[in-house]
Amino acid sequence: MEFYIPAKIYHEDGAVLKHSSEIASLGRKALIITGRSSAVKTGALDDIIKALEDNNTGYILYDKIEENPSVSTIMDAAGIGRSQGADFVIGAGGGSPMDAAKAVALMVQNRDTSEDVLYKPLKLKALPVVEIPTTCGTGSEVTPYAILTRDDIKTKQSISHKIYPVLACIDAKYMENAPVSLVVNTAIDALGHLAESYFNANATGYSRMASIYGMEKWAANRGMVEAGEFTKDNYNQLLFASTLAGMAISHTGTSLPHGLSYYLTYNKGIPHGKAVGIFLPGYLAFMEKNSMPGYKEAVAKMGFKDTMDFAGFIKKCLPDVCITNDDAENMVNEIMQNPKKLLSVPFKTREEDIRDIINYYR
Ligand code: NAP
Ligand code: FE
Repeated sequence: MEFYIPAKIYHEDGAVLKHSSEIASLGRKALIITGRSSAVKTGALDDIIKALEDNNTGYILYDKIEENPSVSTIMDAAGIGRSQGADFVIGAGGGSPMDAAKAVALMVQNRDTSEDVLYKPLKLKALPVVEIPTTCGTGSEVTPYAILTRDDIKTKQSISHKIYPVLACIDAKYMENAPVSLVVNTAIDALGHLAESYFNANATGYSRMASIYGMEKWAANRGMVEAGEFTKDNYNQLLFASTLAGMAISHTGTSLPHGLSYYLTYNKGIPHGKAVGIFLPGYLAFMEKNSMPGYKEAVAKMGFKDTMDFAGFIKKCLPDVCITNDDAENMVNEIMQNPKKLLSVPFKTREEDIRDIINYYR
């Protein structure tokens, strides 16, 4: 067994400003990576700029990361980081800018390489990365993963390099004005990480230490996710659960629901957490059918009575995703060619099993 989470985590009110000197100590010039508007709206960007200015540290801002960031956007941002001499990277926002920050840190450090290296099995270093989440789903502030949109193969895929952030600053205030649907979708992404990591062939005692505790923290918020009403305590607990979930998937990877989701996000523009969530009931039913050890206990830990209760919750929170027969067949074909996801399932998985997982929601 192995457990390795090198990110130092500060989860508290005012985390960025309280630890500004530690952030600034990572280099002389930061490349700040954000989406187009949320970093401004949440106040995260103001905090980052103040933290750097207070410590006489330079910075450049790249604020054009789109949802599900593409390889070409990464190269655009990296070009700016390279030409301006950035020596560390700060990602602020949801999983999209946080993942982008890792890929950009790799491409700036390896300044003479092209985008081809993103998906080559090489061991390359990256600039130090600080992550500041403003959603409660991806856990990207601790994971080594960066999932990018690849137009060449028409899907999303994690880059081959493992880039662990060195520092994560988590502050619930950045979530206080987030739209309800964003909180619900990202909370369900975290639930997916917890479930897919627990019901995973790569799970160990250490990964379960993170996933089971994350389930417990998540469960306390089930009712609020269902009602779409949140307090600051809920945001803190959901952020805690999603960071724990990130620790769990850092060791196991995700499984079939994530693997299936990429098709829906790429082809139908369905947000990540929603696209993952609709496959969770089917994945759980598949575990139950195969008498997965610890199944009932884990479902209870997540705050559900049984598979039906879980499915009812998902239908209520994530209605109206239309999957055509063609979509279903395309997803079956895509996942059957994804050995990593198939090997993450604790049981032998056939095409019919994938169809059952998809059809469970339809
Ligand atoms: P996201 O794609 O980062 O952001 C979704 C939308 O929410 C954007 O429009 C963003 O605006 C906005 N937003 C973010 N925080 C906000 C806030 N506090 N208030 C108001 N609006 C806010 O969403 P996400 O679900 O967190 O991330 C999804 C990405 O993460 C996917 O690419 C997925 O594949 C990846 N992911 C990574 C991991 C991992 O381990 N690394 C795990 C799961 C998923 P702006 O565009 O203006 O920022
Ligand atoms: Fe996810």
